[in-house]
Amino acid sequence: MHIHGVIGIGFGPSNLALAVALQEAVPAGRLDALFIERQPSFAWHPDMLLGSARMQVSFLKDLATLRNPASRFTFLNYLHGKRRLQDFINLKTFYPSRHEFNDYLKWAAEQFAERCAYGEEVIEVLPEEQGDEVALLRIRSRTADGRIQERLARNLVLGVGGAASIPECFIPLREDGRIFHSSTYLRNAARHGAARRIAVVGAGQSAAELFLDLARRDAHTRVDLITRARTIKPSDDSPFVNEIFNPEYTDFVFSRPAPERAALLEEFMHTNYAAPDLALIEEIFRLFYEQKVADGTRHRFLRRHEIDAARSEEGGVALDLHDLDSGERVRCRYDAVVLATGYRRDLHRSLLAPLSPHLGDFAVERDYRLQAAPGFRPGIFVQGCCEPTHGLSDTLLSVLAVRTQEISQALLARGALTQPAAADGGKRLRLLASH
Ligand SMILES: Cc1cc2nc3c(=O)[nH]c(=O)nc-3n(C[C@H](O)[C@H](O)[C@H](O)COP(=O)(O)OP(=O)(O)OC[C@H]3O[C@@H](n4cnc5c(N)ncnc54)[C@H](O)[C@@H]3O)c2cc1C
Repeated sequence: MHIHGVIGIGFGPSNLALAVALQEAVPAGRLDALFIERQPSFAWHPDMLLGSARMQVSFLKDLATLRNPASRFTFLNYLHGKRRLQDFINLKTFYPSRHEFNDYLKWAAEQFAERCAYGEEVIEVLPEEQGDEVALLRIRSRTADGRIQERLARNLVLGVGGAASIPECFIPLREDGRIFHSSTYLRNAARHGAARRIAVVGAGQSAAELFLDLARRDAHTRVDLITRARTIKPSDDSPFVNEIFNPEYTDFVFSRPAPERAALLEEFMHTNYAAPDLALIEEIFRLFYEQKVADGTRHRFLRRHEIDAARSEEGGVALDLHDLDSGERVRCRYDAVVLATGYRRDLHRSLLAPLSPHLGDFAVERDYRLQAAPGFRPGIFVQGCCEPTHGLSDTLLSVLAVRTQEISQALLARGALTQPAAADGGKRLRLLASH
């Protein structure tokens, strides 16, 4: 079986940026990298591509600019290629729509089509032993038609994003299609077009976007925004605070002792969690104001409400709501419940579970490599699940370009040097790891 120099699991922005960084670091056709992506083609959070949604970071934090502004994979080069650069300048914004940014990412991903196996979900990673050592990794994936595919690699980079975080009381109701997470919003909203009464649970950017999207859908839908928080606070993206997303800040966070890192995360949590953009909050406030002017009660903002219990009933999903301020308890029924309750970042642990005797508690080095026991030779790198050690930028686009430079340098430093270009004109890329 062919042994790949590096396999990437997931082909979202993180591993796409890695593909770009590797391509620019190694002469054409002399690197063996393959990415495995479960979606049938490239798509960036496709079920949250709402008509009005905008980026929350500057377009300059694209796949390449902060590493190499002269890269051909920059957002500006994409605009130039699409003949929209001048028009974009006239928009006078740093924040394109998410639709446009998705199109940019897709444009970049298309240039790596031969290096990505789409429609395959990696299900586990197994150790491949030689004597007393683990020499290679065996990556097992399932194709859309149920076939199991196996590949060998010397190095692995996981960029699998987050998994829907579901509040405890909804876990037993997983089979009820009327309850769904924001990560599957658009496909479910289409199915629940006729829903009259909808609850949106959460207080972050997605909750705010979905509340507005649903409230504007038609004149009959009634939407409750249910939050445990006292109010909706805006994300802080003021310039000094924004410095925590600078790539250099990762060095600072990583160098601190664990309790200090935890305190830093807590102090700056409001830059990213339970904190929508101010403009969105103002729109929601205006909607409620206009409702007051019209003496209406169609939509409700149920702040300081805890969901004590949830039940699937024939006539709707029943939520037992506890008003934490007044102490009052009420039962409300909904045709659909949307959980805008965020993401867990622990998918790597389940995929790598068969390797856990060698990886301990999945501690990560500054260069994103997982620490491993002696005799474990493959390099395993992780993107997007290092917030506790590398800081709040880790789950975002902010450090993509620089982080993937660090990972590609680490891969190359592991002896990932090239061999002469393959006879197939460079379609198959070879990356040799010397151990
Ligand atoms: C709606 C939304 C909007 C956002 N907007 C912004 C923004 O404006 N700015 C910002 O900085 N951040 C934003 N984020 C944060 C987001 O995490 C990053 O933008 C970015 O998507 C991270 O890229 P990633 O590749 O690490 O993860 P993802 O984009 O989640 O990509 C992971 C990929 O791995 C694939 N995958 C997962 N498991 C497997 C498996 N077992 N086998 C094969 N493939 C697998 C998935 O299908 C997916 O394509 C947003 C997040 C959401 C949910």
